[in-house]
Formats: sequence, C-alpha cells, structure tokens
Amino acid sequence: MSLIGSDTQLNQKSYYEASVQRPAACPALSESLTVDVVVVGAGFSGLSAALELAQRGLSVVVLEADRIGSGASGRNGGQAIVGFASGQDPFEEQLGAADAQRAWDMSLEAIDLIDARIAQHGIDCDRVDGYVYVADSARKQRALREEMDGLQRRGIPVDWAEGADLPRLINSPRYVAAAREQRSGHLHPLKYALGLARAAQAAGVRIFEHSPVTALQRGATLVASTAQGQVKARFGVLAGNCMLPEHGPAVAPEIAPRIMPVGTYIVGTAPLDPELCARLIPRNAAVCDNNFVLDYFRFSADHRLLFGGRVSYTTRTPANLSAVMAQRMGEVFPALTRTPIDFVWGGFVDISMNRAPDFGRLGDNVYYLQGFSGHGVALTGLAGQLVAEAVAGQAGRFDVFARLQHRRFPGGPLLRTPSLALGMLWHRLRDVL
Ligand SMILES: Cc1cc2nc3c(=O)[nH]c(=O)nc-3n(C[C@H](O)[C@H](O)[C@H](O)COP(=O)(O)OP(=O)(O)OC[C@H]3O[C@@H](n4cnc5c(N)ncnc54)[C@H](O)[C@@H]3O)c2cc1C
Repeated sequence: MSLIGSDTQLNQKSYYEASVQRPAACPALSESLTVDVVVVGAGFSGLSAALELAQRGLSVVVLEADRIGSGASGRNGGQAIVGFASGQDPFEEQLGAADAQRAWDMSLEAIDLIDARIAQHGIDCDRVDGYVYVADSARKQRALREEMDGLQRRGIPVDWAEGADLPRLINSPRYVAAAREQRSGHLHPLKYALGLARAAQAAGVRIFEHSPVTALQRGATLVASTAQGQVKARFGVLAGNCMLPEHGPAVAPEIAPRIMPVGTYIVGTAPLDPELCARLIPRNAAVCDNNFVLDYFRFSADHRLLFGGRVSYTTRTPANLSAVMAQRMGEVFPALTRTPIDFVWGGFVDISMNRAPDFGRLGDNVYYLQGFSGHGVALTGLAGQLVAEAVAGQAGRFDVFARLQHRRFPGGPLLRTPSLALGMLWHRLRDVL
C-alpha cells in the first residue's frame, strides 16, 4: 500500500475525529488566485503560519490535500512538550551556546503561544498543564536524572519521585522513577487545529480542502498548481510534513530525503471511572517514558486513556496493533488489562536524522518547515510565527533554526526506510537492557 493509502487508513478510527463536530468542508480550489502567500498544508505549521501572516496584513491562501488537521496535527498524542526531540546537543554543537539558548527559550515560548492563542481566539481544546517523565530501569533512571538536572539548570522546576514515593506522580508497577514539571502539558489536537483554522479564516485566510498541490513553479512569482486551479504568490510556505512528497513529488524534492516517515500508534480505551484516573495519574499529567521507542499516554477530557507507542519504520501498519498496544498498556496499568479499546489509529512522524527541526528556504521566497521529530505539537506554532516574522523582514529568529545543518537519510526513497529499520533495531535492543 502507498504511504497515502496507509496514512488514510490509519485515520479511520481516531478518537479525535469521533469527538469533534467538523464544520462543513471548505471548497476545493477550482480557480486562479493571486495572493501574497500560498501555504501548502493545513496542519499546525501551515495554519500557524497562515494566521500570523494574515495578522500582519498579508493575503493568504492555504491549500490542503485532505481535510484541515487530517495529518499528524489532528491525530497526535496531544503532548505539548518543552525543548526538542534532539535535546540541546545539535544546537550547542552547531550554533554555539548563545543561539542554543535562544532556541531553548523559543521552545518555551512555543508552549506559551498555545495558551495565548487559546485565550485570544477562544479555542476550547481540553488544555491541561503538567507532564511526567518516567523511567523503567536503573539505567534509564540515571538518564532521566541527568535530563531533569538539565531542565532544572535551565530554570524548569522538577518534582522527583522514586521507590515508595512514586505513586505521588504515577501509580504503575512498570516504572522505577518519575519526574514532573508544569511547563509541558496536553490538549485535544484536532480541536486545537480546527480552532486555529477558524482563527485564521477570521483573519482573512482562505482555506481550500481536497486540493493537493502537485507542482510549484519557482521564481519571483510562485505558481502552486492543483488539479483544477492555481495560486500565484510572492511567498510560499511548505508545511506538508511526510505527505508533501507523496502528493507533490515535484514540489520540493530536495528537502524530502531529510525526513523519514515513522509510523506511531495510539489506542483509546472506553471511558474510565474518574477516581481511577486520578489514582493512576494524579493531577492528570501527560506521561512519556525515556526509551528510544517510547510509550506516551494521558487521559482525555472524557476519561479515556489515550495510550501511544510502538513504531513502524517500514510504513506498514503492524499486525494485531490493537492487541499489542492493549498488552503494553496493561503492563503499565494492570488495572486496565481488560478495559475495552474503543479506538485505534496512528500516523507518520517526520523524523530528521539528528531529531532537530529542519526549517529553511528554497531560493529566497519559499519557506519550509519539517523534521519536528515527534515534538511538533508546540514547536509547529512557533515555526509558523517565525516564518511570518521572516516574510515581514525579521528573519533573525527563523535563521537560528535555518542555520542548523541536516543530513539526508542514506539510500534514496526506496532504500532509506529499510536502512533506518536496521538502525532502529539496535535502539530497540538497548531499550530492553
Ligand atoms: C500518532 C502521532 C502521535 C504524535 N504525538 C505527538 C505528541 O504527543 N507531541 C508532539 O509534540 N508531537 C507529536 N506528534 C508529531 C506532531 O503531530 C507533528 O510534529 C505535527 O503535527 C506536525 O504538524 P505539521 O503541520 O507540520 O504537519 P501535518 O499535521 O501532518 O500537516 C501537513 C498537512 O499537509 C497536507 N499536505 C501534504 N502534502 C500536501 C500537498 N502537496 N498539497 C496540499 N496539502 C498537502 C497534509 O494533508 C497535512 O494535512 C505525533 C505524530 C503522530 C502521527
């Protein structure tokens, strides 16, 4: 099955789609328009860029291949996390201490931006503060301690628990240590994406759904083409994530090899007793372990456990997904061993080689945003804002990220997935040590 087929299938039983009332679909593009900026992709990145650009007075069209938020943005774990999947190393090694610190500060700003937008645009998306990091072995406990010491040095207070003290933060026999911080948290990602789209439309952005961009003619005037229309623009923003090369292989072939689509999956249980939820994860934090192939979970507003994990490096959906995930969930919370699973879905994460975000320009008027590496819930919002600043002539903050060097995954489109799978096998083995 193609990546698009596999991706579409993975969105068919999503808790998020089942728990929102989508507005009527936006029309598909069927005309020729001329605007200041054309944005490809209506996920968090594209919507955030569109909103910010329109707020600066530019005319903006967003072209979306499928529906608003139907990609990773409307399906993810909803965990809005400080920092970067790569940690600070690539920033410090490549940019030096001062710009690495600027990047870190912007990662905190990314969380604040979510809250500011929720408040400003009245977005009801079940936002909750609080995040618990967990470790399941003595070796991972030491790694977690180091990571948390790093957070504290950067000014984030951390509440540490281990041994008999652990149930204060999480009530699971699987873990040996846990740490809680208050800057990160969680939300309902599809409600947030639809809220961002509403805000963008209110600011004048025109969004077209079911309008995949198949070609982008570059030059001082860009021409983005769909099956039945075209948009001419002075600036372009490519925010198509893993599906960009699938819908439009010729749109930006030079950036595609720098990210790898990695499948990740979530199950949603039937609603649970709220008192049980409060015992399992006190104060309703989002939780994530520090394995390379990680488990991440949290409760929804209607008290379902949304439990994410497992990965596929081959783009094929793993067999017996629901049963495998349920077993994993039962190991974390034995009380949920027989709880019915109502939903199972997944999507593709855009992993960059060094796990740092990959932002940049093609020529001087096409901006691209990719490589969020599983940390996109918060960073995408910031990314859109940085593009808008750059288009408005203030590129300093965008260029902190654009200066990061990124390597291509070896082997070209056909070989990079198997070679990644081999590389990951080693990390999986390390997880169980
Ligand atoms: C299952 C899952 C769990 C995750 N959990 C978390 C988490 O808990 N925390 C976290 O921080 N991150 C998480 N992530 C990652 C996070 O969701 C992404 O980093 C983020 O949503 C990326 O947003 P985006 O706007 O860049 O891409 P997307 O949301 O994928 O949007 C891209 C859009 O572009 C459209 N598109 C592509 N090509 C074209 C084209 N040629 N023409 C028109 N439109 C096009 C697509 O249809 C899509 O709607 C998770 C991802 C998945 C899949």
